[in-house]
Amino acid sequence: MSNNIIRRGSFEIEAAEAALAEASKGGADFFKPKSGQNALRFLPPPEGKTSPFVVSYQHWVTLPDGSRSNMNCGRMVAKQRCPVCEKMDDLLRSGNEVDFKAASEFKPKLRVFANIIDRDDEAKGVQVFGFGKSVLDQLVAIRKDTRAGGDFTDIEDGFDIILTKKGEGMKTEYTCLASRESSALSDDADLSSLWMDNQYDLDVYKRVLPYEEAYAKLTGESVASERPGRVTSGGLKKPEVLPPANKTAKRRNVEDDINY
Ligand SMILES: [Zn+2]
Repeated sequence: MSNNIIRRGSFEIEAAEAALAEASKGGADFFKPKSGQNALRFLPPPEGKTSPFVVSYQHWVTLPDGSRSNMNCGRMVAKQRCPVCEKMDDLLRSGNEVDFKAASEFKPKLRVFANIIDRDDEAKGVQVFGFGKSVLDQLVAIRKDTRAGGDFTDIEDGFDIILTKKGEGMKTEYTCLASRESSALSDDADLSSLWMDNQYDLDVYKRVLPYEEAYAKLTGESVASERPGRVTSGGLKKPEVLPPANKTAKRRNVEDDINY
């Protein structure tokens, strides 16, 4: 009898965990900075990690149904073939100025993710903050500054980051400053632990689709029916010849920053 109850209970836990895992994939609560000052507390790295940040590279692409979507770059994130980068390479190689300009739209863009608490809305709990290279540079500089900065994620003795947002759209600018006061993540130890336990698994933001799946998502066709080989002037497709993976990875044809 009691065994049955336990078994049923454990199924419920598994289901709850599956739901949580599912939620952390796409349903994370994303922090949207407001214009002017924001006060953020970055959570320390989860156990086994040394950085509170997960760095990814994303393409913004138009899917066959006309919708816009982001897709992690296989080449930059996983050192594998990336159909979007291959499209960009083709455009860059064409020698045509229009193609050359169009290629910039396909550049992968650096995107960093961190778990944060919005000090102006702590009731929201842990949120994911996605940001670009300029914010990352400033945060790293604060971390390395032994006088006016330091480990701002420290639970007991860290400090908040004052993020100021100026402008809108592509012209948005962010400045990060260290708060003047050191502080605990929370004065309430239970709340601190709750937040620590509720961090999102940020590794999902650097998951890369296998090449075939990414290609199918992008074109609506399977790789077998249409290989993205180079087209010669005669219209014949050359087989795709790839440089070694390590060389590909060093090719950092990326946008420095993105503001969205
Ligand atoms: Zn790519």
